[in-house]
Amino acid sequence: MKAEIMGIGTELLMGELTDTNSSWIASRLPALGIELQWVSIIGDDLPRLTEAFKRGMERSDIIFSTGGLGPTQDDLTREAVAAAFGETPTIQQEVVDNLERYFAARGTPMPQHNIKQANLIPSARFVPNRNGTAPGWWAERDGKIVICLPGPPGENQSMWEEQVEPQLAELVNDEVTITRNIKTMGLSEGAVDEIISEFFGVDNPYLGIYSKADGIHLRVIARARDSQSAQKMIMPVEQAIHDRLGEYIWGYDDETPEQAAGKSLLEKGLSVAVMEMCTGGALTNSITDGPDSMSYFKGGNVAYDAAALEACGVPAEVMEKHGVVSQQTANAMADTVRRNLNADLGVAVTGVPGPGEFEGKPLGLAYISVTNGEKTREMEMRLPPRRVTIKRRVPNQALIELRRLVEETG
Ligand code: AMP
Ligand code: MG
Repeated sequence: MKAEIMGIGTELLMGELTDTNSSWIASRLPALGIELQWVSIIGDDLPRLTEAFKRGMERSDIIFSTGGLGPTQDDLTREAVAAAFGETPTIQQEVVDNLERYFAARGTPMPQHNIKQANLIPSARFVPNRNGTAPGWWAERDGKIVICLPGPPGENQSMWEEQVEPQLAELVNDEVTITRNIKTMGLSEGAVDEIISEFFGVDNPYLGIYSKADGIHLRVIARARDSQSAQKMIMPVEQAIHDRLGEYIWGYDDETPEQAAGKSLLEKGLSVAVMEMCTGGALTNSITDGPDSMSYFKGGNVAYDAAALEACGVPAEVMEKHGVVSQQTANAMADTVRRNLNADLGVAVTGVPGPGEFEGKPLGLAYISVTNGEKTREMEMRLPPRRVTIKRRVPNQALIELRRLVEETG
């Protein structure tokens, strides 16, 4: 089944909004056995939208669209599908009633413009939306399917998971594609490539290697009749990766460094505190993205010079002797914040974020320390001289080191 996705909205064409909906939907299609062939972005313009739907119905079996289902005059997706199908929409009273209830529950009358969200053509049915006013459309004509979802990810993702995906799964029984993503940190892309070289160049299961801000990722992709057979094809490759790269693996699939570290902390019932120089709170920000971070995160300090670090309890002698940017200072920071905040583990980062060198040390140099009071993991990093890269890579590495020490902590 060949598919295309349309991201609808002039703000997408203006570069004001990034089309994350299309990539999110794209990521869900392989497991359903649906082959994505096109992604387009179309502005809020009825003739162009109509043309896009018409063209989509010629070249694809299924079209997904997001956006343009709101109540305002520039939301034209329904009108465009109706025009492409050559049908006239009519107001569905039960949806008007739903909309009126939705607004009544919020204590305001329904704006008259919202009535257009109750429009439907004979070839379509509604996809209910429990998080907003815009119901989606599922339209079918001549064996082609058009599925229109509202723009906000908070609305369309639950609609997809609860309603669209289950119905698509029944419909499609072609090959499925299963992906396993294995995430490593500590080896270069070339080194990883060499260690598992014989698995590359195979078509199915396909092994891909990608360098990311949180290390080297290996993606095994298998195509088969059903997901069980695809899993079976992935297994030997995954096992070999495990046997040869086990100590470098920190996570799988969608897992982020903060989730991997958080999961380990939670499992072991341990807590953590952080002190950051050079990352401006990015490490703290990542840790607190974890939904359960209240259970293991004690807090932390962001301090950018020796006086501020001293005020946070870091001994001045260490900084005078070795410099603010040094492994010794990183170690002192980690241990200080661990004791001050009464945490099981302390994590610290210090480095040179630029614009130029600092204490005679080069831009991009950073030190990480993770300690549980008995054992300490130390690391020196030499990063590209770009502030955003430093602020992303140093916290990722620190979180992966944290996870490693937690795994070693009884
Ligand atoms: P709309 O349904 O076109 O009125 O879109 C409503 C809101 O949904 C927009 O203001 C965005 O916040 C969000 N949105 C729309 N399209 C996309 C998209 N392709 N990717 C991510 N967010 C989107
Ligand atoms: Mg819009």
